[in-house]
Amino acid sequence: METNDISKDFELTKDFDEKYCMQVFGTPMPVAFTHGKGMYLYGQDGKKYMDMIGGIAVNCLGHANKTLTKALKTQVDNFIHCSNYYYIANRSELAFRLCKNSFADKVFFCNSGAEANEGAMKLARGYFYHKGEKRSTIITANMSFHGRTLGTIAATGQEKFSKPFGPNLPGVKHVDFNDISALEAAIDDDTAAVMLELIQGESGVRPATMEYAHAVRELCNKRGILLIIDEVQTGMGRTGKLFCYEHYGIKPDIMTLAKALGGGVPIGAVLATNEIATGFKPGDHGSTFGGNPLACAAGLAVFEEFSEKALLNNATNVSAYMFEELNKLRSKYPDIIDVRGKGLLIGIEFSSAYDAAGIKKQLFSMGFLVSSIGKSTIRIAPPLIITERDAKSFIKAIQKIVDPGKSILNTFRRG
Ligand SMILES: *Cc1c(COP(=O)(O)O)cnc(C)c1O
Repeated sequence: METNDISKDFELTKDFDEKYCMQVFGTPMPVAFTHGKGMYLYGQDGKKYMDMIGGIAVNCLGHANKTLTKALKTQVDNFIHCSNYYYIANRSELAFRLCKNSFADKVFFCNSGAEANEGAMKLARGYFYHKGEKRSTIITANMSFHGRTLGTIAATGQEKFSKPFGPNLPGVKHVDFNDISALEAAIDDDTAAVMLELIQGESGVRPATMEYAHAVRELCNKRGILLIIDEVQTGMGRTGKLFCYEHYGIKPDIMTLAKALGGGVPIGAVLATNEIATGFKPGDHGSTFGGNPLACAAGLAVFEEFSEKALLNNATNVSAYMFEELNKLRSKYPDIIDVRGKGLLIGIEFSSAYDAAGIKKQLFSMGFLVSSIGKSTIRIAPPLIITERDAKSFIKAIQKIVDPGKSILNTFRRG
């Protein structure tokens, strides 16, 4: 087996990927990274890339953060895994930190966002079951994204994710986002919960309005149903507050986390109040890996880095700078038609003259990593350590793309 020099040979990496990995991610960008530091990832090609997508809102501390790598190394040397048959100090402490810093009283740990949302939906149903109330339907929003498992593709309000894999699991209804009367009309005696993202990340960075979020909370209270907020993407400082619901001045009954919770190490969590946590009795739910010592060591390191508040303040400040500068660009260049989001989760929508995948490739060739959503939007979710200087160089790159005078990009214009 001649595979040991693959880490130095991009063509071999690419070839093996095509031959041996299921091709679910489309064609990746033409790079494999060897290491990272702070805002940057370094490619086998010898180039460095400013990471403006942060592993899809995961690398909140940037790359090779000292606190995180040290915590992981120490934990690896001690032990990695032992199962949930035993008390786990890291798990207890991480649960404590999450509860102290949120609405929640209790936490269940799992391994991903989809698994957290599965757990949340189960918990909502279990809550009513154990109370002796027959309620099971979960209402979610059109254009939402909640994951890729069978349960979460049924919950996700975008048919493209579930169509080939039907029949869809029953017990889920979809309504238009930001439309309170549609939600009101959909609730009936079988409704257990409403599950929402406060900013729809995967469908183009679309925030809930303040009025809608408040009306949903009131409606759930009035009808005796639960509000599940999916903060898998918006949680852990992404929007400038530890959790996005804090911006809205409402509290969920159940919240899900994953992406940034371990700063890059896979971990997910379901958080709930004591009352709602009664929905899981011993034996009702579980996970082999969930809450393991290594993943929780990562979560604790992330909390340690958050404890100074400097990260959240930085996210808020650099966000304000970026929105200001991007909106300046928008008023100057009509091809930027919208800039939206919160904190460091930002969607930039371009006119139909541009193709988002083309812009992503152009930015890549200029040394910036972003993601494209649909035909016309690019999304950024950089590490929360980004500086104004980093942001400035990114905005310059965007300007180059939309300024026909300066642009090499005319090649990316349609037609
Ligand atoms: C990414 C994401 C998920 C799914 O998380 P995985 O870890 O990929 O399973 C669920 N909900 C939201 C809002 C997400 O952004």
